[in-house]
Amino acid sequence: MKVQSVHSPHLEPAVVSDTEAVPLSDLRELLEQAIGSLGYTEKEVDVIVEAIMWSQLRGNSQGVIKIPSGAFALPPGAGPAVVVQDSPGIASIDGQQCLGMLALHRATRLAVAKAKQGGVGVVGVNNTASTTGALGHWVEQIAEAGMVGVIMCQSPEYVAPHGSTEAIFGTNPIAVGCPTDEGPLLIDLATSAQSWYSLFEAREKGKTVGGDIGYDALGDPTTDPRKILDGGAIRTFDRSYKGSALALMVEILGGALAGGAVEDKGAARNWGSLVTAIDPASLGGAAAFRARVSALLRRIKAARPAPGVSEIRLPGENSAQLAERCRAAGVVPMSSKLYEQLRAAAAAETGRSPSAAAPSSNHDHQTSASPERPSTTYAQQNGAAGGRRGYAMATRLVHAPKVTSDPYGSVSPPLYQTATFEQVSAVECGPYDYSRSGNPTRTQLEAHIAHLEGAARSFAFGSGMAALSAVLRLVRSGEHVVAGDDIYGGTSRLLTRIAPDLGISVSNVDTSDAQALRDAMIPGKTKLVMLESPTNPRMNICDIAGLTAIAHEGGALVVVDNSILAPTFQQPLALGADIVMTSATKFIAGHSDVTGGLLSVKDPELAERVYFYQNAEGSALGPFDCWLAMRGLKTMVLRMERQATTAALIARWLQAHPLVRKVNYPGLPSHPGHAVHAAQASSGGSLLSFETGSVEASRVIAEEAELFKITVSFGSCSSLISLPCYMSHASIPAALRAARGLPDDLVRISVGIEDPSDLLADLDRAMRKAMEKIGMEAAVPGFDLHEGQTGAQRERQLLQRIAQLEAQLQQT
Ligand SMILES: *Cc1c(COP(=O)(O)O)cnc(C)c1O
Repeated sequence: MKVQSVHSPHLEPAVVSDTEAVPLSDLRELLEQAIGSLGYTEKEVDVIVEAIMWSQLRGNSQGVIKIPSGAFALPPGAGPAVVVQDSPGIASIDGQQCLGMLALHRATRLAVAKAKQGGVGVVGVNNTASTTGALGHWVEQIAEAGMVGVIMCQSPEYVAPHGSTEAIFGTNPIAVGCPTDEGPLLIDLATSAQSWYSLFEAREKGKTVGGDIGYDALGDPTTDPRKILDGGAIRTFDRSYKGSALALMVEILGGALAGGAVEDKGAARNWGSLVTAIDPASLGGAAAFRARVSALLRRIKAARPAPGVSEIRLPGENSAQLAERCRAAGVVPMSSKLYEQLRAAAAAETGRSPSAAAPSSNHDHQTSASPERPSTTYAQQNGAAGGRRGYAMATRLVHAPKVTSDPYGSVSPPLYQTATFEQVSAVECGPYDYSRSGNPTRTQLEAHIAHLEGAARSFAFGSGMAALSAVLRLVRSGEHVVAGDDIYGGTSRLLTRIAPDLGISVSNVDTSDAQALRDAMIPGKTKLVMLESPTNPRMNICDIAGLTAIAHEGGALVVVDNSILAPTFQQPLALGADIVMTSATKFIAGHSDVTGGLLSVKDPELAERVYFYQNAEGSALGPFDCWLAMRGLKTMVLRMERQATTAALIARWLQAHPLVRKVNYPGLPSHPGHAVHAAQASSGGSLLSFETGSVEASRVIAEEAELFKITVSFGSCSSLISLPCYMSHASIPAALRAARGLPDDLVRISVGIEDPSDLLADLDRAMRKAMEKIGMEAAVPGFDLHEGQTGAQRERQLLQRIAQLEAQLQQT
């Protein structure tokens, strides 16, 4: 087997003249710049740099040499690795095309956390198609946590099974690490005669490779690394059936078992890994295990040497000593050419998108040190093919990604109605410790929402306003916010009464006018743009993608309040926004029984900042309310589609009604924002407003309609009616309302799930009363509904009446 160490023939240090001693601090800085320029988050850069340094110090082929080969380029369409199946001792991670190293980093931590809790942790990883780095680095971390680690990893077709010259297996490394009293003992071996990168390196240097290690594309033996890599095949490490058998099992355990592809692996871009951690404490005691291993190693070191051998070396011993020597000297040897390539990569233009000045994102709570907080991180799913992400909204609403473990397989998510969690020991945390910082029921809701919105993470707050307050925390004193001029009353209060006390200035603009936003942006000061589309209650539309581009140009973050359409009908993150807020009080809960607010954040680093405020200010949603919101989610599409269909009918009827001056409903072709709306949303929604020209008439309509409950809020199963100027928007001063063109006679309707004909008949009756009250005479075709009618008969009558009214309108 080929132990990856400096003493491997293919890694013999290059001739002295061509080698430089690079100071370790320079190496780290250059690596941080080179990897940082590729678009990774700061934390990801740390993980990647750490793994490269580990290999470089040990002189193995998983180090800096991978930079010129482009191995660390941010994979296209990469999302963060996510846990998609989770049981007490075992879990499955969908790498979502993230860098293999990042998937293994996550899998290793998860396996250790599980082993700590139940003695063993097995984590399968699939759907990655890029480098995992040296497996030794990851098993060392498991060993350092006091566990025995085993990692196997599959890769594309490079290696021929014994007796064949055709590449089927990957180089399929296997690494095992175990704790000993003298520090971790590690093996890390490719099951191929040489690792892919050592061939790559030989090819770069124009060298041949000896030792009968491979075939060319025609199946003839060759020593030319170019021919082996170009359609040829590498042999297994021992050129015999034994090596082939081991390679096969690594392919099966690290690939097939973990969910990796086994055919055309290069094109499938789905390679697997299996990470196992075993706690020796659960097998008779950790100290006793280490003592037995130490005794065994001592025996090996003291064994009678073969002729010509001066010292028997243990696996990994040479490379560990090399790393030690480098650390002591503070330098690492590297070829001049590679050093030059590294400096060039470090000088490359940064590919990072600018973000607003960020406070430190450390949690104030001990959980930041916990080994594995179940993540609510999900990648952009829109349009992504395959797996769960390819399903339509109605399916995704019912089938939530399962991110918390449940030994009984309950179909409804468990309700963890607890404030605190017992810890594994006095010095270690479990995945949860305190519900303000995290609660499994909340994690489940947040993961589901992130999945629906295409967010890195989502966060559940005690109300929509609590969520928006957390967003306002992202703006510092002295900075500036731009918001629309027709916004939710509570948001208006937040911006006029609270923001000024925080030293934050606010401008309100007409967001249907892009130039107005451009003019309002103050260079260097405007940090947040808050958008609503449709607005509430006038249902104005803004071009979310267009305004977001303007805001981003000026360096501001964009939050879209999407409460009126919810992810069902509009997905602002896909339109470019950074954060989307949805009041869960409305369509998500759907039954007027929960107050809650959800923030979905596209960028993982920004998400960390939001999490900081959720935890620090204690504004998270309680477990039972999270549970109710999840129940609401399941039926959200059914409710919203029914509500929207009826709303579209009512809007048509109102538009033709003599008592109505103006209808605001973006689903009507006559709405000035209809085209923009149709391009960015999939429905007109179920909220509409209209003007009668008479406060008196409006009041009668609201009070006489029986099925429409007079309430603020919307999105309930029940139809609701309100006069915004006297209710939800009363907190906006009258003068300001007038200035913003918010007329006192405006009636807002939230359409429920009742039978559409009952709703229209009810509204018809109320409007007749209103016309009577103001002495208005006009012939309006009525509804003649009775119990014996079928649904189809009612619907036909409904459409006839609307058509009659529309015909009348045409004549006048
Ligand atoms: C209801 C609502 C909010 C506030 O949500 P709460 O859950 O009531 O705090 C914010 N924006 C819009 C558009 C809303 O309709």
